[in-house]
Amino acid sequence: MEKINDTLKKLSMRTNFKQRYEEERNEILKNEDVRKFLLENEGRITSSMINNSLMKLYEFISQSKNCQKCQSLDQCINMMQGYEPELILTGNSIDITYRPCHRKVYHDERKKTEKLIQSIYVPKDILKARIADFDFNANTPGRAIAFEYAEKFAREYEPGNNMKGLYLFGSFGVGKSYLLAAIANHLAETKQISSLIVYVPEFFREMKQSLGDHTVNEKMEMVKKSPILMLDDIGAEVMSSWTRDEILGSILQFRMQENLPTFFSSNFDFDALLHHLTYSQRGEEEKMKAARIMERIKYLSTPVRIDGPNRRH
Ligand code: ADP
Ligand code: MG
Repeated sequence: MEKINDTLKKLSMRTNFKQRYEEERNEILKNEDVRKFLLENEGRITSSMINNSLMKLYEFISQSKNCQKCQSLDQCINMMQGYEPELILTGNSIDITYRPCHRKVYHDERKKTEKLIQSIYVPKDILKARIADFDFNANTPGRAIAFEYAEKFAREYEPGNNMKGLYLFGSFGVGKSYLLAAIANHLAETKQISSLIVYVPEFFREMKQSLGDHTVNEKMEMVKKSPILMLDDIGAEVMSSWTRDEILGSILQFRMQENLPTFFSSNFDFDALLHHLTYSQRGEEEKMKAARIMERIKYLSTPVRIDGPNRRH
């Protein structure tokens, strides 16, 4: 009696299993992506191939595709974060490969860009700046001029071209640094050209502190030779004759000789910057030195006044 019961139980388990198996199989074959794959490979896939690959097909439908089941890359539900499955046919079996999803591709691209732009001392959020997002207002002609030139530069510049940079000046918070960063981002993304954005007050402070150690030369070389240089907030620094003549002067001199594009942002127009560079009233020699720096800045860049509301809160 006992034995018969066992056999019956086993039999019913087997039918249960068979039934469950059929249900699963139907479920898998009903899946839209699976159907599409089978249709694309019609005539090449047999019923037994499907049966042998049910585990793969099951894995395929359980994973998120086109990031549909994931909120973000961090919350990716897939077995391998940032990778989505694709069905392929290898010989007589259906298989799965994983490729990076579009969020992962974008994320990796951004990482590469951020590495290219070695923005010393510049806030990270500026790395997301886009030229297209720079709002130019018809009532403030400078914004349109700056925008147009930024677009032109980003589009046309190739290493070796002789193109002037911009000297963006205007009051605090109008988006000068933002536009410079947007140009840098564009060049990095579309042409893999690297820019260095240097926040001048901090850079000068650091140079003074590292006076006498070997890093001064190393940093100077990096700034001098950067394919694109953006000197952010020039005029906001504490000026000394050493930083003016040995640091700023020699950077500008080198970039002029090598035709390396150089951009500036400042709260000062050219006259006010000249005044700032003539920081001490020690006579004619000071004026000459300040004027020489101004000549180099004018050679390297076109001045554009940017007005607009202060976007800082
Ligand atoms: P400035 O250098 O002229 O003092 P910023 O470029 O630092 O001004 O801009 C001030 C703030 O406004 C920054 O936080 C910047 O990220 C933001 N900002 C400026 N322009 C834009 C824009 N077009 N879209 C979004 N944010 C912007
Ligand atoms: Mg700024």
